[in-house]
Amino acid sequence: MSKTHSYYMGIAIAVRKNANCLGRKVGAVLVKENRIVATGYNGTPEGVPNCVDGGCVRCRKRDHYRSSAGYDVCICVHAEQNAVITAARFGISVEGATAYTTMRPCFDCTKTLLQAKIRGIVYLHNWTHPDPDLADQYELLQARFPEKVQQFEMPDPDFEWANAIPAPPPSPLPGRKPSRTGIRTGLHTALPPEPESPESPESPESLKPAQARGRPKRRQSRTSRPQPRKTGPARKQP
Ligand SMILES: [Zn+2]
Ligand SMILES: [Zn+2]
Repeated sequence: MSKTHSYYMGIAIAVRKNANCLGRKVGAVLVKENRIVATGYNGTPEGVPNCVDGGCVRCRKRDHYRSSAGYDVCICVHAEQNAVITAARFGISVEGATAYTTMRPCFDCTKTLLQAKIRGIVYLHNWTHPDPDLADQYELLQARFPEKVQQFEMPDPDFEWANAIPAPPPSPLPGRKPSRTGIRTGLHTALPPEPESPESPESPESLKPAQARGRPKRRQSRTSRPQPRKTGPARKQP
């Protein structure tokens, strides 16, 4: 069973490489009768400028749209949704399929998968909703899948890239320590990830790879600009 899981999760990880969202990158595959019937990754709708090119306002303005909030105005389509939508587009039934996704599905994707009669969900990285009341409701909803929602852990070679979220705004909330790594690089923080934005608890790990890579410290160079690189707007999560 775990061989099956690692096979399909490995493919979901490969699909994720195409994700173009400023936030967390997610890949998903729908598997039915041991066949992949659809795949999806997160990003803006076809024909709309990519999120990484500033296409999504909500993903860009992370200081305004908090983690796990404002999805209704986010134009990025989530990986799981894209997989279901792609199946619809080509007339493929997904009823009874299992969804493999690199991030535990958010509220919206959970609803979508449930209504599409997906039987079960296997996810790689966990996510919990920050609001306790909503988190309870989220768990109730996820408990509706006949074959359950389960985590399958395996090595993720692109963990940092996929789960990195942008530096927090300058004035952090009281009690929330800004990540030194995030501030220094302007690229990564220790804030918990959000699914395509979901929040994931394993953030400390996102610190290590950045440091291990020996990314140059901003303050070393007097000539370097203090903030993000010129690869477009600061990276934000959806
Ligand atoms: Zn986005
Ligand atoms: Zn989602």
